[in-house]
Amino acid sequence: MQQKLKIAIQKSGRLYEDSVKLLKDCGIDVKNGINKLKTEAENFPLEIYFLRDDDIPQYVEDAVADIGIVGENVLYEKKKAVTVVEELGFGKCRLSIAVKRNEDYPGVEFLQGKRIATTYPVLVERFLQEKGIRSDIHEISGSVEIAPGIGLADAIVDLVSSGSTLFMNGLKEVETVLKSQAVLIRNNQLNDEQLKLLDRLIFRIRAVKKAKN
Ligand code: ATP
Ligand code: ZN
Repeated sequence: MQQKLKIAIQKSGRLYEDSVKLLKDCGIDVKNGINKLKTEAENFPLEIYFLRDDDIPQYVEDAVADIGIVGENVLYEKKKAVTVVEELGFGKCRLSIAVKRNEDYPGVEFLQGKRIATTYPVLVERFLQEKGIRSDIHEISGSVEIAPGIGLADAIVDLVSSGSTLFMNGLKEVETVLKSQAVLIRNNQLNDEQLKLLDRLIFRIRAVKKAKN
């Protein structure tokens, strides 16, 4: 039986459409798979798994999927042993620190001893450590942007693209922790045949990226 490459992409959300479009632009026919766990490409030896983005690094590390598309923000927060093979140029955003708009913000020293709410404790901790700042990091699972308004935190760290969510919640962006985009990752122990299939896919992805520039 011919070997197939298994790719994990986001099931629904901000990366879903661009991930499917990338495969289609690569000439790969993806049968409509939303609300399904997996589907197959018709004209390329590829199986597509639809997963929550947070789970993709783990699945690729464990070789449940051979490759995956995920935001750098999620990848570096999860600290999994996988290899980045290509930057994909979509899903661009930044992980930023924000404080109340009326707050005087002299610099990172403002954050010393303050309460920071985030869904990215690992990246925040690393950023603050590099700056020699110690804060009280509270990991919360969602709606981070409301935390300062309800007195839960003095600052937040969250993903930003236009900044409108921050604005609507009376916040201002003061530091960038990470600039992020979607990347293609792979399992660290692919066999020769899998690596060859991956090379064919990367070749097409680069052609698509080139055509766009
Ligand atoms: P899932 O249900 O798969 O866990 P999610 O709610 O965690 O989805 P989305 O909001 O769909 O995730 O975002 C997926 C990824 O899209 C983010 O991790 C990030 O890499 C990227 N992204 C790009 N722009 C933004 C933005 N403005 N806000 C949030 N994520 C963004
Ligand atoms: Zn997620």
